[in-house]
Amino acid sequence: MNEFALIERFFADPAAHEPPPSWLRLGIGDDAALLAEENGWETAITCDTLVEGRHFLAGTDPEALGWKALAVNLSDLAAMGAVPTGFLLALTLPEADEPWLTAFARGLFACARRHGARLVGGDTTRGPRALTITALGRVPAGEAILRSGARAGDDLWVSGQPGRAALGLAVRLGALPSTLPGAREWIDALDRPEPRLALGCRLRGLAHAMLDVSDGLLGDLRHLLERSAPPFLTAEIEVARLPLDPLVAGGAPPERARAALLSGGDDYELLFTAAPESRDQILLLGRELGLPLSRIGRLVPATAHPMVLIEPDGRRTLPEVLGYDHFCACKEYP
Ligand code: ADP
Ligand code: MG
Repeated sequence: MNEFALIERFFADPAAHEPPPSWLRLGIGDDAALLAEENGWETAITCDTLVEGRHFLAGTDPEALGWKALAVNLSDLAAMGAVPTGFLLALTLPEADEPWLTAFARGLFACARRHGARLVGGDTTRGPRALTITALGRVPAGEAILRSGARAGDDLWVSGQPGRAALGLAVRLGALPSTLPGAREWIDALDRPEPRLALGCRLRGLAHAMLDVSDGLLGDLRHLLERSAPPFLTAEIEVARLPLDPLVAGGAPPERARAALLSGGDDYELLFTAAPESRDQILLLGRELGLPLSRIGRLVPATAHPMVLIEPDGRRTLPEVLGYDHFCACKEYP
C-alpha cells in the first residue's frame, strides 16, 4: 500500500457522503484545507512532519532544521495563494539539549519573522526526534488556488530552480564532490528552502491550479493531474524548456541533473498551470519578484499516459522515476 492509498483507505473522511458543514470549504487532498471565516476570508491550514533519519540526517545543523520545519509548512500555504498567520509547534526530542534548542529556535524564528508567522501553541514530548508544525494562513474567500483547477490547453510552469535540493543531498551523502561549483548553493537549497509566498499570492487570479513540489516535480505533477476534473489531462513536458543549464553549470553530470530536476524532492518550488494568454504577465511577475519562472510544457486532453516527455530531438518518451512515497520500497538515509 502506498502513502496515498493508505490515506485514502483509512483516513478519507467517513462523513464525506454527508453534505459538508458550511464552514468547510475544502477538505483532504490539497496542500492545505480551507475553512470559512466570517469576514470574506478563508483560513488555510496544513501540517507537515520532519522525522530524523527520514527527512533529515542525525547531526543536521539544528538552526537549519528550525528554518526548514517551518518553511516546508509555509510552502503549502504558498501553494494555495495564502498568507501565513500563526503556527503550532509539536516537538519530540530525545533530550533537552540546550545548545540544540537555542540553535533550533533561532532558525525557526528567523523563518517566522521573515514571513510574518506567529508561534501560537504546540506540544513538547520526549522520544525519537520529530518536528511537526501546523501552519495557518488566510486567503480572500474563493481565491485560493487549488490543485483541481487545471484545464486542457494550460501551460505548465515551475518557479525557481528545482533539482538543487536533491543534488545538495547527493553532495552531503558523498555521492557528488563538495568541491563542485554549485555544491554550496545546492546544500543551502536543501537546508534553507524559501517558501514562495510572494509568488503564490500574486498568482491568485492568474494560475488555474497549483501545488508545491515537495516530493519531486513529476510525482507532484501527477497529484495535480489526478485531481483535475474529468475528462482528465495529460502533461507534455518539453525537456528543452527545463531549467537544466544552471545545474550542469554547477558541475552536475547532465543525466544526474535531469533526474534531480524531474524526480528529486525537497525543493519547495511552485508548480502551476495558467492560460497561454497569461504568459507575458507571468514572465513580468517573475522579473518583478527576481524569481525565474520556467514554462516547461502544457496540458492536453488525456492520452494513454498521464505524463509524456518531449525530448530536444522531438522524440516522445515516458518518465521512468516519479516522486517520493513514504510507503513504497525506497532508500532511507544511511
Ligand atoms: P503535501 O505534500 O502538500 O503536504 P501530502 O502529500 O502530505 O501533502 O498529503 C496529501 C493530502 O492528504 C493532503 O491534503 C493532506 O492534508 C492529506 N493527509 C495526509 N495524511 C493524512 C492523514 N493521516 N489523515 C488525513 N489526511 C491526510
Ligand atoms: Mg504541498
